[in-house]
Amino acid sequence: MSIVKSKIRTIPNWPKPGIMFRDITTLLIDPEGLALTIGTFVARYEKAALTKVAAIEARGFITGAALAFQLGIGFVPVRKKGKLPGETVAEEYQLEYGTDQIEIHKDAINSKDRVLIMDDLIATGGTLGATISLIRKLGGEVHEAGVIIDLPDLGGSKMIKEKYGVNVYSICQFEGH
Ligand code: AMP
Repeated sequence: MSIVKSKIRTIPNWPKPGIMFRDITTLLIDPEGLALTIGTFVARYEKAALTKVAAIEARGFITGAALAFQLGIGFVPVRKKGKLPGETVAEEYQLEYGTDQIEIHKDAINSKDRVLIMDDLIATGGTLGATISLIRKLGGEVHEAGVIIDLPDLGGSKMIKEKYGVNVYSICQFEGH
């Protein structure tokens, strides 16, 4: 959606040279932008019979918590390694150099759950793929993944569809990196 897209700020060469950082803080600070973003997700998912929103640390928490509240369902944080205090399951994923891990509480999701995953942005899809695996390990069904921004040239949303059979819904797309 072009109004949402127009409120996202691009910061070139941050956090390192060559990266075009898509900064959603300018969208969130704008009441119309915030309402349009959450409203778009609510309209898409209000009839989806979801039971939980699982959101990826850290920017996924912002839209994920607002959406879960509006839908009247539970919120589950997917966190970087070592942050969750209870018993967890973990999944490794590829970074540009090396690997990282994300975790979810074992008792956060069960086989009765129909889960929407939320993040701010999908690039290569590594983080999202690991999140799908975590939810499936716990027996949950992944309904879809919702993001504000897709970077289609990096192939993440296509990979997620092909490898995991999960659709990625994005409000707007940016060409290039
Ligand atoms: P990936 O696992 O490659 O799909 O990376 C997605 C994660 O990295 C998301 O949680 C984003 O917040 C962050 N990210 C990757 N690329 C960018 C970018 N160009 N601008 C802002 N955030 C990004």
